[in-house]
Amino acid sequence: MSAATITQPDTTATEAAPTTTSGDTAPGLREGAFGNARCLSCRECGHEVELGPHYACPECFGPLEVAYDFPAVTREEIEAGPRNIWRYKALLPVPTDIEQSPNTEPGFTRLLQAHNLGRELGLDKLWVKDDSTNPTNSFKDRVVACALSAATELHAKVFACPSTGNLANAVAAAGARAGIKTVVFIPSNLEKPKQVNSAVYTDRLVAVDGNYDDVNKLASEIAGEEEGWAFVNVNVRPFYAEGSKTLGYEIAEQLGWRLPDQVVIPVASGSQLTKVHKAFRELVDLGLVEDKPVKIFGAQATGCSPVSSAYKSGTDAIRPVKPDTIAKSLAIGNPADGIYVLDICRETGGAVEDITDDEVRQGILLLARTEGIFTETAGGTTVGVLKKLVETGQLDTSLETVVINTGMGLKTLDAVADEVGPAATIKPTYAAFTDAGIV
Ligand SMILES: *Cc1c(COP(=O)(O)O)cnc(C)c1O
Ligand SMILES: [Zn+2]
Repeated sequence: MSAATITQPDTTATEAAPTTTSGDTAPGLREGAFGNARCLSCRECGHEVELGPHYACPECFGPLEVAYDFPAVTREEIEAGPRNIWRYKALLPVPTDIEQSPNTEPGFTRLLQAHNLGRELGLDKLWVKDDSTNPTNSFKDRVVACALSAATELHAKVFACPSTGNLANAVAAAGARAGIKTVVFIPSNLEKPKQVNSAVYTDRLVAVDGNYDDVNKLASEIAGEEEGWAFVNVNVRPFYAEGSKTLGYEIAEQLGWRLPDQVVIPVASGSQLTKVHKAFRELVDLGLVEDKPVKIFGAQATGCSPVSSAYKSGTDAIRPVKPDTIAKSLAIGNPADGIYVLDICRETGGAVEDITDDEVRQGILLLARTEGIFTETAGGTTVGVLKKLVETGQLDTSLETVVINTGMGLKTLDAVADEVGPAATIKPTYAAFTDAGIV
């Protein structure tokens, strides 16, 4: 894809919008549009491409990733920043004045020590990174904020995505706030609450008869045909994906600038897991935390577990599957970053594990009843996998562990609606209450 697909030729360049001729960025972009990012670099062959709406290596079709020239960054500078992801703007592909652009200001969510859940599972030191409190109640607000910045700098006219639900919510909300036209595509069988959570922000919600992989294919086709569209997870994916690094930065900062020993992360495309790992490495390289081994674990639902299957069978090849699980936000049958998840989990001494839909439901209830956090099916998957990793001895219970809750239970109420409810329905009398034997 050429840069021209998004960037409109700037025939009226003014002093207010200087264009760069340095060769680092596509024509028509202002200086510093991507902060300290230097170029896009191929994850497979290392080939470098100028910063722009590119996502596949022209040499080998491998995925492109943002590469940087980081300046010296101190803990104090970060701590003096805003209480959202822009405190890490020096480490993201965004301009230094990013706070000035209207955005949803996601991030800096709570890291809670989970004494009760830890005791229940036999873990000495357990933390929950709770991303359900982001502006649209999932971690997707982080990645979308970075994609919005790239779309803005590339002069995109339309902000769009194929989505399993949460991404559409985040894109629709961020687009509304930024005043850019949004078009979001979802599988037509998506949970009603997730549909409503997009449709309130945009009247261009498109339900597609097909699964996520079908929706994704359609998005790639539109991105190739239409001018000026920024598909957050397609043609600006390298910029989008970097937003997930902020989860890793925050975990380290909130632990008092140190890394945990083990992290359990849900896997859909696998992007988040690879970026949390990248974030930890960057913090070590920048001297912001001490180096130490961190085991990374991936969580999937059995009904869509291509990465876990490959991990267990000891192969490097991910065999795509047709998803069939209540964990719809994780239901990507052909995960783009699956092979990198395998590499990272194997190299760090972690694992990839999967659990049944019933265990997903139990995972939701376990977190709710031990920590007062209502997670969606993705978090139920992650907590359920954490439990299974302990029970199967794959996770070291003496090590400090962080489990990431990426979403909010109110979006997937149906998953547990039949499991819970009133203990009794009684007449409004004291006698009726005592008769019911509730306490
Ligand atoms: C998208 C999503 C994920 C997984 O993200 P990937 O980066 O695609 O692996 C996890 N949890 C929730 C709630 C999500 O919406
Ligand atoms: Zn390449």
